[in-house]
Amino acid sequence: MTIDFCMDKYKKTIKDCCNEEIYYALLEMTKNMTRAREKEYFDSKKKVYYISAEFLIGKILSNNLINLGIYQDVKKILEDNGKSMDEIEEIEIEPSLGNGGLGRLAACFLDSMATIGLNGDGIGINYHMGLFKQVFEGHQQIEEGNPWIHKEEDKNWLNKTEITYEIQFGDRKVISRMYDIDIIGYENRINKLHLFDIDTVDETIVKDKDIEFDKTCIDKNLTLFLYPDDSDEKGELLRIYQQYFMVSNGARLILDECKKKGSDFHNLNEYAAIQINDTHPTMIIPELIRLLVKEGIDMDEAISIVSKTCAYTNHTILAEALEKWPLDYLAKVVPQLVEIIKLLDKKVRDKYDDESVYIIDKKNRVHMAHLDIHYGYSVNGVAKLHTDILKNNELHNFYKIYPDKFNNKTNGITFRRWLLHCNERLADYIETLIGSEFKKDASKLEDLKKYINDDQVLKTLLDIKLENKKELKAYLEKTQNISIDENSIFDIQIKRLHEYKRQQLNVLFVINKYFEIKNGSKPSTPITVIFGAKAAKAYVIAKDIIHLILCLQDLINNDEEVSPYLKVVMVENYNVSKATKLIPACDISEQISLASKEASGTGNMKLMLNGAITLGTMDGANVEIAQLVGNENIYTFGEGSEEVIEHYKNSDYVAKDFYEKDERIKKCVDFIISDEMQKIGDKESLNRLYSEIINKDWFMTLLDFDDYLKQKEKVFADYEDRKSWAQKMITNISMAGFFSSDRAITEYEKDIWKVF
Ligand SMILES: *Cc1c(COP(=O)(O)O)cnc(C)c1O
Repeated sequence: MTIDFCMDKYKKTIKDCCNEEIYYALLEMTKNMTRAREKEYFDSKKKVYYISAEFLIGKILSNNLINLGIYQDVKKILEDNGKSMDEIEEIEIEPSLGNGGLGRLAACFLDSMATIGLNGDGIGINYHMGLFKQVFEGHQQIEEGNPWIHKEEDKNWLNKTEITYEIQFGDRKVISRMYDIDIIGYENRINKLHLFDIDTVDETIVKDKDIEFDKTCIDKNLTLFLYPDDSDEKGELLRIYQQYFMVSNGARLILDECKKKGSDFHNLNEYAAIQINDTHPTMIIPELIRLLVKEGIDMDEAISIVSKTCAYTNHTILAEALEKWPLDYLAKVVPQLVEIIKLLDKKVRDKYDDESVYIIDKKNRVHMAHLDIHYGYSVNGVAKLHTDILKNNELHNFYKIYPDKFNNKTNGITFRRWLLHCNERLADYIETLIGSEFKKDASKLEDLKKYINDDQVLKTLLDIKLENKKELKAYLEKTQNISIDENSIFDIQIKRLHEYKRQQLNVLFVINKYFEIKNGSKPSTPITVIFGAKAAKAYVIAKDIIHLILCLQDLINNDEEVSPYLKVVMVENYNVSKATKLIPACDISEQISLASKEASGTGNMKLMLNGAITLGTMDGANVEIAQLVGNENIYTFGEGSEEVIEHYKNSDYVAKDFYEKDERIKKCVDFIISDEMQKIGDKESLNRLYSEIINKDWFMTLLDFDDYLKQKEKVFADYEDRKSWAQKMITNISMAGFFSSDRAITEYEKDIWKVF
């Protein structure tokens, strides 16, 4: 490292540079250090290609400085010159290349692959506007573009490469170009995230302050947005263009790299392991088959080679999230794959007399997950419960055919970002207690257990939490002009907005608490309920729930009687940067999805690691958290997954019955369309949500209402005993080691990839 980074770039001292100049100088220094270091690591024969529509990598600078081992030095130099690392971090725009947990998982996995020294690159798309930026206007979510790419190359984390391919679609061809972002492991090797783009993309076709654009203008829009609205045919077609663009580029790159290393393609699986992250990259299977046949390999062998090279990760059992593309659409966009897909389907039909496992269904739709399962060599779920549900329910008929393909890989998170970077206070303190080994071996956190009865340690943990809460308070005041009480309980639910995640259940609690306070029953410690969530642009009910939260925030925070005891905060534009500010300040981690519906969750892991206590259903990885920390250190409630699955089978859940039988439920739900609310909010939206909850409630909110409220009151009561609460905190932190993505990646390597 050179301490002259500003001199090198701007011929000025650090003192004389503004924050923006310092940021760009550090960016350049990091890139130069990376270039010098990457030669130290050789290319192993076999390589992992992690292909994914999303990589929610978050801001890059600090993470790179930490992983290069120079974060503390840089911070000190800046401070010595009157500058602040935090302010410099604020300059960076977060690349918005992902949506939620799945994209964040891909980012954590890239970090861990490099950190454990595994040769593994990411492959994806260089979306110029990413998902979207969420702004609140009139108590509503508004979507704006979120451009993040700096026009000048030297101010950009993307490195432009000379690798380009001609990508052929049914009605046009485009020339792609590959850009790379360096992925620096924690004091280890350097890998790449390859992002494909086209030179002709045109950001100006997007209307200002609105993200409408001509969806048919493929040459200009192909790499503008992640998940463009697919509620119409044009939108669906655009998604297929994007997916084929990603996989065709990926397949060409993989074949080129393997050939260079000596593969004759007959042995492709000795050179490449391709991990298909959810169904979006599924077309890489027929595309690779097509390319191998073009190389002169016969069809049956090509199919067999690809089937030994590709592995699939399933992330959901929600029917609407499992992609099924109409064959007609594929014929329009990628006619070259249609015959191959039909052949792959025919082979399945010839072998199995079971419609549920066919690739092409009666309505001529292609089930992408079915392609992955038949023609990949591994199928993994992302938490124990999720994998069991796949085996026993959702994918049972496949499990019967391929019992050996199915395996579990419980998700993980990188502790570099989710502890060392986001909570320096806690990380430093842990280091004074147990030394620094936990940074490379997360299981060492268990050593903290010996302090469980040490009053001084427990007190310090509470002090650190309070400092973090003060910091979040100051941030919310600055960014959203909302004032909260750092001595209140920070009760936090941060995740994508979806009915299955049941933010609406938490909202009903808020309404109930509002009534209680109005009736004179005040909580011993005030409560601050914090939400952060984006809703998909076309997901009407999810946007209605955001609307309801924003209306309640307005009503409750401005009510002089209630607001000293209860506040509601909806954080704008929830993303990785916001997560790093919210998570260290959390007391109660809300993980309240309907049991069986959350595949794993990773937010639950981040929060636990930072000393929050989980209030959750027995769903996803919550089950494993409960096993690790024991019943004393987590609060669980609600119907179990098996019962929920039965309710669906028997169609015997009727929301209206709960609404009519339980006075409190009726009162809370009715409040959504009360005069008070209608004065603040939009009648149509509030009415729609009200009617959805009492007439449909597909994710059974009302079923768990009573138990949720009971458990939540127990959490609040237990919070009062500060010592025992701190003991729960230290237990959660000490048992979080299992959820390191280094552990998860080590399992993928041993069981699926076998590179080492
Ligand atoms: C971790 C993370 C998620 C996933 O949260 P869940 O609670 O697991 O759904 C989503 N968005 C961001 C920005 C994250 O950091």
